[in-house]
Amino acid sequence: MAGRLDRLRSGFDGAGIDALVVTCLTNIRYLTGFTGSAGELLVGADGALLVTDGRYAEQAPSQVVDSDTEVAIAGTNRRSLVTDRLSSSDRVGLEAASVTWSDQRRLAGWFDGIDLVPTEGLAEELRQVKDPGEVARIEAAAAIADAALADAVELLAVGVSERDLAAAIDHGIRSRGADDRAFETIVAAGPNSALPHARPSDRVLEDGDLVVCDLGAVVGGYRSDMTRSYRVGGRSGGREDEVRDAVRRSQAAGLALVADGVPLADVDAACRDVLAEAGLAEAFVHGTGHGVGLDIHEAPALSGSATGTLRSGHVVTVEPGAYLAGLGGVRWEDTVLVTDDGHRALTLAPRAD
Ligand code: ZN
Ligand code: ZN
Repeated sequence: MAGRLDRLRSGFDGAGIDALVVTCLTNIRYLTGFTGSAGELLVGADGALLVTDGRYAEQAPSQVVDSDTEVAIAGTNRRSLVTDRLSSSDRVGLEAASVTWSDQRRLAGWFDGIDLVPTEGLAEELRQVKDPGEVARIEAAAAIADAALADAVELLAVGVSERDLAAAIDHGIRSRGADDRAFETIVAAGPNSALPHARPSDRVLEDGDLVVCDLGAVVGGYRSDMTRSYRVGGRSGGREDEVRDAVRRSQAAGLALVADGVPLADVDAACRDVLAEAGLAEAFVHGTGHGVGLDIHEAPALSGSATGTLRSGHVVTVEPGAYLAGLGGVRWEDTVLVTDDGHRALTLAPRAD
């Protein structure tokens, strides 16, 4: 936690601000350790003040001890707490992505004579590069998801419902000590597998179904993300095998590029090229990957329009897929840590045939 607020401040000049009101709760957690559901963090040139409410009077001070942040419990004095703290600032930044129109109007009314400046991604930029403690949490979450998936794969057979498989995964995640699932577990079989974000239904697995399982766990607030695909009855010798093999080659081509300094768009292109060669360009209907951390989807995005590069310490997914009405869908996804000369996979569940 130490040092994160200073690194945030180092972005103030570039953003044209001398203080920032952090309202995104995930950013507040990242910067201070506070996990409550309400609050705003006022970061000035020196010092930071977390304004929250009476529910967190005990929790907040103990959680922020490592971040050099003061805590104020606001009641009816919230306006004066906030305005007094920022009264010496000329240009106060707001996080454009998390401030509602009504919040902005309220703050504009409070700050007479102070410029409110919209900012984008100041804390999100810092969150992209993970420190060893963050990586350890993601790795622990990934290990739990690996084990939970292994439980569910034991059950994967004709007659089992998507919902039962998802419940087995969820139980495996909870019973192994995770805080929670990283997102609603996806188990999609047969025609449902052609829908990239299908929800588990009562559909019962049939012989020959393609099955997509997409799951993750949360440990210490940090998430993992992994997809494995199966075919009930194993390899068919038919079109399903070609699609599955192409998606796996696509992921391997993308992962082979992952390393510090590689353009994000190059990884996307490598995955897409393999699928295009297999006649599946149109079947790959989503981005190639995304950062993973306190949020399941965070910067950087791995897409054709991404302009940045991978950096050591990024934790990203590479997850090409192909979705064909009538045949079904296939996706392979791993969460990996970017290193100076390559990557280290954090999700390790074995590949199905
Ligand atoms: Zn996923
Ligand atoms: Zn993902």
